[in-house]
Amino acid sequence: MTNTSDRDPGHSLFSGQSSPASLSSTIVPLPSSAYNASFARRQQARQAIRPALELVRSTDAELGVAEKAEAAPKKPVLFGSRALIYKQDPSVTEIGIRKVLLRGPIQPGPRNARISLQGMPSVAPNTMNDFIQAPETPAFDAVHAFAIVHQTLTKCQRALGSPIRWQWNTTKNLEPINVFPHAGETMNAFYSRSDKSLEFFFFKQPGTPAPAPVIFTCRSFDIVAHETGHAVLDSLKPQWIAADALNPQTGALHEAFGDIVAIFLALAQLDQVEALIVQTKGDLHNKTFLSDMAEQFGLALGRDNGLRNADNDKRMSEVSSEVHDLSQVFTGGIYDILADMFEFERNIEREDEAATLLRVADYLFGLLLRAILQAPAQDATFADVVNQMLAISATDGKPVEHRNFTRNQFVRREVVGSPALLSADFQGEELQAVQHAHLQIQPTGLQNRSACCGTMRHRQYSGAHIVLDEELAALRDRGIGGSVAQKVPAKAAE
Ligand SMILES: [Zn+2]
Repeated sequence: MTNTSDRDPGHSLFSGQSSPASLSSTIVPLPSSAYNASFARRQQARQAIRPALELVRSTDAELGVAEKAEAAPKKPVLFGSRALIYKQDPSVTEIGIRKVLLRGPIQPGPRNARISLQGMPSVAPNTMNDFIQAPETPAFDAVHAFAIVHQTLTKCQRALGSPIRWQWNTTKNLEPINVFPHAGETMNAFYSRSDKSLEFFFFKQPGTPAPAPVIFTCRSFDIVAHETGHAVLDSLKPQWIAADALNPQTGALHEAFGDIVAIFLALAQLDQVEALIVQTKGDLHNKTFLSDMAEQFGLALGRDNGLRNADNDKRMSEVSSEVHDLSQVFTGGIYDILADMFEFERNIEREDEAATLLRVADYLFGLLLRAILQAPAQDATFADVVNQMLAISATDGKPVEHRNFTRNQFVRREVVGSPALLSADFQGEELQAVQHAHLQIQPTGLQNRSACCGTMRHRQYSGAHIVLDEELAALRDRGIGGSVAQKVPAKAAE
């Protein structure tokens, strides 16, 4: 465990990269002065015809064409900066790097109102307000981490249709999340509520002769999305992260959500979706970069089988109460439902199947997020979320087949029992959770999180930390808290 004082920008690890300026001109060509002058003239011409459009609208309004007049609300100015990201991570060379457009005003850092890069030299945008940096440089890593956190937050907010506050935000506290791309040298990455941070570490690849290649967790699309997923879920369900929750399934939902966010964020990238269809010929159970990820980054999260293993067949009777092991049942169920829904919705006579997958994935992720929001505030189980998904799907007026897939996949995985045959249509009944006596918390009263990512192993989420906080609060209430509180380390050692 490394604390904040150990953060190291890691500059000595880099050498001989191409300059961002030369990269900009090849990846995002800068316009010539002649083009800029021409563009300005065209903009002025467009401005000139706007009064005429207003006249048309007011004339429509006078004529009673109210809809037309109302259909033209003033739109806010769309800010946007381009950036480069790894589609997966540096080891997945097959799909490489892509440009992304990040909406909203973005300041040097980069930072915006919700996300602030820390612990590294500030990165300034170029003259077009783009953050194009050479790969394998600290500046690229800063922009990459910012871009993926930005995309993850945007994806979750769109799915819910409303802004998502960070866990500490109130009407008076609008502090952004602090992102540390080079938080220090250790095999770890985590979200810290108490530090209001996402911290990504780097490490020398184990088992390789010197000089061993350095692995940067901030360069993994999946790891950054996964840890940001923890931060998002912590704001929606603050009690789910506690290590002393009575049911290990609650912690497993947290860990599964991180993996699920990473999968669905990849499925929100249009070029990724098309590449996936081509690679698998439309069979999502075919081995893909979506469900089977780079092992070197999986190691960073303490896993020996890659970051994701979403396309699995694990049942409740086949897993332990270790939270990551358990989480695979839920992640696998969601992945199966995605594959089932996609196959059901696919109609290649009417729609490109990449478009179908994009649409189905977008709906399913939103359905899951809304179900989580409706689930109990504490000690939630897989069955709680599954039942909410079934209820919301019916309210949405979706075909009964969607609910059949959800019921059948989670019955198959022994999460819930069904009184009806799986060949019959789902009738709307609440499904009962199957009890598994072997899935218990440890004798310590804490969940077994030994194979989870750094977030879930962080001591600040253990009961001991909560008790410590309560004791300190009591001391402060008695008027002697100031000096005592200052002796508490900023972050518990892991
Ligand atoms: Zn995690």
